[in-house]
Amino acid sequence: MARVLLKIRGVLFPILLVFLAFPLSSVSAKSSPKARLPWLKGVRYWTAPDHTRVVLDVTGPGKTKVFKLSRPTRIVVDIEGMRVKAPGMERVGDGVVKEVRWAPKGRGVRVVLVIEGDLEHRFFYLKPFMGRTARYVVDVKKPEKVVVREKRQREEAAAKEKKERHFIIVIDPGHGGDDPGAIHNGIVEKRVVFSIAKKLANLLNSTTGFRAYLTRKGDYYLPLRKRVEIAHDYKADLFISIHCNAAPNRRARGAMVFALSNKGATDNVSRMLARIENTADMMEVEFTKKREVNYILLDLAQDYSRVESEKFARLALRSLVRFTGMPWGGVKKARFTVLKNPGIPSVLVEVGFLTNRREARLLRSGLFQTRVAIALADAVEDYFKDKMKPPSPEVMMARAQVGKSRGGEVSSKPVVARPSEGKAKVASGVGGPRVSTKRTGTRQRVAHRRWVIHVVRKGDTLWEISRKYGVKIRTILVANGLRKPTIYPGQRLVLPIARITTL
Ligand SMILES: [Zn+2]
Repeated sequence: MARVLLKIRGVLFPILLVFLAFPLSSVSAKSSPKARLPWLKGVRYWTAPDHTRVVLDVTGPGKTKVFKLSRPTRIVVDIEGMRVKAPGMERVGDGVVKEVRWAPKGRGVRVVLVIEGDLEHRFFYLKPFMGRTARYVVDVKKPEKVVVREKRQREEAAAKEKKERHFIIVIDPGHGGDDPGAIHNGIVEKRVVFSIAKKLANLLNSTTGFRAYLTRKGDYYLPLRKRVEIAHDYKADLFISIHCNAAPNRRARGAMVFALSNKGATDNVSRMLARIENTADMMEVEFTKKREVNYILLDLAQDYSRVESEKFARLALRSLVRFTGMPWGGVKKARFTVLKNPGIPSVLVEVGFLTNRREARLLRSGLFQTRVAIALADAVEDYFKDKMKPPSPEVMMARAQVGKSRGGEVSSKPVVARPSEGKAKVASGVGGPRVSTKRTGTRQRVAHRRWVIHVVRKGDTLWEISRKYGVKIRTILVANGLRKPTIYPGQRLVLPIARITTL
């Protein structure tokens, strides 16, 4: 128990408090009618690009009344038949919500959100489900013009990348905010998948010909339909949703990759999993209304993307098994909402089981997360290898111009002119995993087709590393998500290189 407690941080802690509170309140329930009233246990919030979500954790529902007051603009939530230990206040200050205050009022509790101007909101109650406690949710929406501007920014970014003939990959870290995903062995799914997604985006962005974007850029909840919409704004060539698996059988382990099926799941387990991953959204009724429209769209463009999704799913799983040593869990099909992406090849990757002790321990490690990211980046490159097109003539011209004016500093080679380590090599890799790990002193390298992990030694400089491996400093920075060109001993740097490095 002590070990479990040590691992609990942030989001988990209030949830645990609620669990602990349950038996206590039910013991004293018979003593007086007031003792039966539910508790307001805590207030949490998450800032998303288009809204701020305030969650009131409760042990059960009360009778609610929600209204607005002005000067300053406030959203008032009165919950009759609810108790709270003490008044409190949470400063938010994210440009949408200034602060949240709560205090006992009459036979209930009053919660006040002080907000920035007359913003729209929605309010709903979520019953406890899948280990998550009951809650009231207040979403305060940013003005429509902000939402529209963000959408336009995505579309403009995509247009620019398309002009360069870059492939656009949208990476979707599952869950987020008040939806933590699976929690087992002290690991929270939303955190692990976010870390892997960021690593994958960095690797792809350091690779010529690719541009990666994340659906969620922080710890907040995004409805599944919104994730799909973002992929469409970016005109994604590929959509990868990243999740961790969980199963009642603690021995279950391995990687699985899912492609969409609109007929039904390949097996019962897949069906159940789709239900679990979709659950968070099914609770939020608003988005189900749009589903009808999406089904119609689906029919039009589904055939192409279904074949392509399955093709990438196989590449991704093969690569995951090869780079991480995780067992082959299978390429499967199920009705994941997040995969209903008309015209965009889409997969959902379950990178291992949090319910399996061994895999949970691996998934916690930064190095293993990097391996997962490398595996997926490698699969992406493989997938697009035969889809490469030279850049448009205008881009070639522009590049030639820039090259001239800078004295030929910019390569005049088209984007496609990458060393082609063709299919032959992949196909001939019969003898076991292609990742070889060697140790020389403090230096460990994972050598394979394109990626090397370099452990920084005392005295190493970025310049030396760059020269040694023939990788530009900028590329090293991007691949590792480094903002500043500073490195430290023991740091593991991923180096995208063009061939196998022998020691
Ligand atoms: Zn998940």
